[in-house]
Amino acid sequence: MRMRKLPWAAEYLDQAAVVTSNPCDHQGCWKQKLHTDELHVEIGCGKGDYLLEMSKMYPQSGWIGVEKDQSVAAIAARKYEQASDTQDNASIIVGDAQEIETWFESGEIDVLHLNFSDPWPKKRAHKKRLSHAAFIARYGRLIQDQGEIQMKTDNASLFAFSVLQFQEAGWFLHEIDLDYRREAHEEDAVTEYEQRFMSRNQPIYRAVWKKIPYVNKDKKKR
Ligand code: SAH
Repeated sequence: MRMRKLPWAAEYLDQAAVVTSNPCDHQGCWKQKLHTDELHVEIGCGKGDYLLEMSKMYPQSGWIGVEKDQSVAAIAARKYEQASDTQDNASIIVGDAQEIETWFESGEIDVLHLNFSDPWPKKRAHKKRLSHAAFIARYGRLIQDQGEIQMKTDNASLFAFSVLQFQEAGWFLHEIDLDYRREAHEEDAVTEYEQRFMSRNQPIYRAVWKKIPYVNKDKKKR
């Protein structure tokens, strides 16, 4: 759903402290900038509810929201600036995720989040999907070896497509849930889109992929 253009967006984004207007200059330095050793990046952060809530719930981690729509990003930025109980552990990048490799260095990201990405239902538009092989390859270069990608969506065909794309790219499916909010999952904030689908009683699909197979070191050998 496209939002109407907000006349104040560009000017607001220019001066909002939470917005990093020159992300290329911070390549390799985000953890230092956000005072953390665990970096989370949400691609397509929309109006920023998830970014704001998660950055408050996990103040030790750094949270970066990427959003290409200026008007939507401006709402996210304003929400963050107006919140009273935030720390210095979040930032917003206004730009297209296609450029992600100019903003981050290889291995810099720990967890990447794809929340309710645009489904692009027409076959010829599948390459625009944020879980298309071309995007997964980019993410793979930027996520550290023990890192992961978490995805939530309401869209069954986007979900099925994504499972296959990650499989072909050699990622390891670590968690999969076809009705994620059947349980509360208070450890994970609800996004704007997610709230909408939950209120219509639609199931939320979720998966987590690891870059390398996950070994539970706590598990004792028998
Ligand atoms: N994550 C939010 C918004 C989902 S809508 C939520 O769950 O509520 C998807 C968002 O992704 C839109 O705001 C859209 O502008 C953004 N988006 C789509 N493709 C993008 C891209 N290539 N780079 C950055 N943002 C993108």
